[in-house]
Order: sequence, then C-alpha cells, then structure tokens
Amino acid sequence: GLSIGLVGLPNVGKSTTFNALTKAQNAEAANYPFCTIEPNKAVVPVPDKRLAELAKIVNPQRIQYSTLDFVDIAGLVKGASKGEGLGNKFLSNIRETEVILQIVRCFDDENIVHNEGSIDPLRDVEIIEGELILADIEVLSNRIDRLKKQAKADKSAKEMLEMAEELMEFLADGKLARNFKDADTDIYKQLNSEVRFLTNKEIMYGANTDEDGLLEDNNYVVALREHAAKNNCELIKLCAKIEEELIGLDDDEAQEFLTDLGVKESGLEQIIQKGFDKLGLMSYFTAGVKEVRSWTIRKNSTAPRAAAAIHNDFEKGFIRAEVISYEDFITYGGEAKAKEAGKMRLEGKEYIVQDGDVMHFRFNV
Ligand code: GDP
Repeated sequence: GLSIGLVGLPNVGKSTTFNALTKAQNAEAANYPFCTIEPNKAVVPVPDKRLAELAKIVNPQRIQYSTLDFVDIAGLVKGASKGEGLGNKFLSNIRETEVILQIVRCFDDENIVHNEGSIDPLRDVEIIEGELILADIEVLSNRIDRLKKQAKADKSAKEMLEMAEELMEFLADGKLARNFKDADTDIYKQLNSEVRFLTNKEIMYGANTDEDGLLEDNNYVVALREHAAKNNCELIKLCAKIEEELIGLDDDEAQEFLTDLGVKESGLEQIIQKGFDKLGLMSYFTAGVKEVRSWTIRKNSTAPRAAAAIHNDFEKGFIRAEVISYEDFITYGGEAKAKEAGKMRLEGKEYIVQDGDVMHFRFNV
C-alpha cells in the first residue's frame, strides 16, 4: 500500500517520533488483526472525530479507523548517495514510499549532541535533500545517456532529452524535481514514471521542537517555515517527546494535557491527517450496530471502486449504493430518520464518493 517514509539526521528525534507512531499502532493493534507488525513499519489509525459522533447515534460494538502506513527509513547521513552508511539501502527504501516525512531538529539541548555540531534546520534540510538530489542526478544522467542514442531516430526521445537536460541543470542547482517548471507536463510524468525521482515526492517537515517552541515558534521553526513555504512543502510542528507521552492517554486526558501546554492539537495527529491527505486518500463510512468504520479509498473513486475497499465481490456485483452524507446522518440522527427526511440518495456506478459519505452497498453475489 501507499506509505510515508520517515527520514532525519541522527539525534533529531526521529526514533522518538517513530516510537510514538508504533505506540499508536500497538494501542489499536487488537482491532487490526490483518496487519502484520514489522519493526520498521507502523500502521496507525487516522484520527477522525466523526467516527465517535456516528457511534453516539449507532452504538456499535466497536469503532474502526482508517489506517496509514509509516516506514522508518534508517541510515541517512551525509554521503548516503555515495553509498556511505546504509546509503544505497536507504535510497531504495525511500523510493518505495510516496511521501517523505522529514524530522528536523528545532530544539536546543546541550546534552544531545547534533551530528553536525550545531542546531541549524536549514543546513539539515540541505544535507538530506542534497543526498536525494544527488541520487536523482545519477539516475537522470544514466537516462540522458540512453536518450542521446534514442534521439537520433526518435522524435519523442529528442523532446524528452531536451527536457531531461534542462531538469539536470535544475537539479544541479540544488532544486527539487517536484518544483521543476515542467513538472506537470505529460513528458515529465512519463520520465518520472520510468525513473521515479526521489525529489518528486511530496515532502512534509516535522519541526521537532521543545515545549516552549510548541507555544510560540522559535527561530529554528521560523526559518524552516520560510523554507517550507518557498518550496510548497507542508510543515507541522511537534514535540516528539510529548507525543510519546500523549499516546496511551485516553482522549479526554490527552486533550487536558494539550490544553495545559497551551496547544490545540497534537502535532502527530496533524502529521497523520495531513499525510493521509497528501497520499491522495480519503475516507467514507459504514455505520452498523456491529461496527462503525472508516474505509480508505483514493480520492475521486467511483462507488464500485470504493466498495472494493470492503470486499472485491462488492465491486464485481455492484448494483447501487445508498448514500447519506455525514452531515445529514448527524443532523437527522441516523439512517432511518435521514431516509424519512429524503436525505438518502441512490447512486449508481458513476457516482464519485465524497469524503464522509455514509454508504450502504447493494450487490449481486
Ligand atoms: P534520532 O537519532 O533522530 O532517532 O533521535 P532520538 O529520537 O533518539 O532522539 C535523540 C535524543 O533527543 C533523545 O535523547 C530524545 O529523548 C531527545 N529528544 C527527542 N525529541 C525531543 C524533543 O522534542 N525535545 C527534546 N528536548 N529532546 C528530544
């Protein structure tokens, strides 16, 4: 499935963040017997307050959240693209993920040395992204060599070669492929599908700060925010240590803890929610007495495709879907009353499922 790769230099709080994710996984593990537990992977529930609201109406035996996969990617140090440390392994692991979550150290602590000798988020980002760019330059330069041969006989190869050479200059300037001016053209997309640039992936920054920094951006966070905005990247502030403590508290306790700190939302929850969105995923619901459940689908899925999240037979034998929007389900107090009020729609094969739809599928077996 789609996943988010967690990267970061040593001693920035990456393990602490991953531990928090693993704890979130284990807290829910009993509900997800189909998920195998792997040491470098965390399958975490995607927080969604709507499920609890649906449950208040339906009183189900259990609630099941959508999940999101995080992969802890070890071994990124300066020189990784040249095979330093676990360099090559690192690069191939990252290639298999769709979104990169880069934990960046934004806190001072004399007792925790920084590998590079000082705290400097922009330098850290430059080291990591520099390694990704170098890896892209290598694959691109191989592709250019081949394109040069093909271009003699093939006009479309010539076109791609011209773009590839421009992209090469762009990368050599230290820029990310995803920000290349032609990144939304078909020819770029074709090239990217062949070589899968690491720097074409979405990057989210996890600005790992301390308690004070959570309340008010410190200078490290300010600098990183500016960089993120310039590069169209998401930045989410968190304190990894606090996130680790938050997991295991029940919802009310966690909320109280956050309120005491003076913050509204857990950073880790925001990371999970934003990550889900960046992967192009969304949820629809089923609401029965056995379970109220959130199902994961790609955005813009038709009703039969969405049905396949539950069972392939639902897609094959799809007849129609009964749909109530989340808002209507809540406003009218459940399926029966929403139906009475004329708020249940019958939708066919072409229907594009909307985020939060409460669905019931009719199908032939
Ligand atoms: P990694 O090498 O990036 O995986 O770093 P770790 O997660 O092991 O963290 C390195 C050290 O920094 C550990 O002693 C953590 O307890 C500490 N640490 C992690 N996050 C924070 C944080 O948000 N604030 C502070 N002050 N220390 C942290």
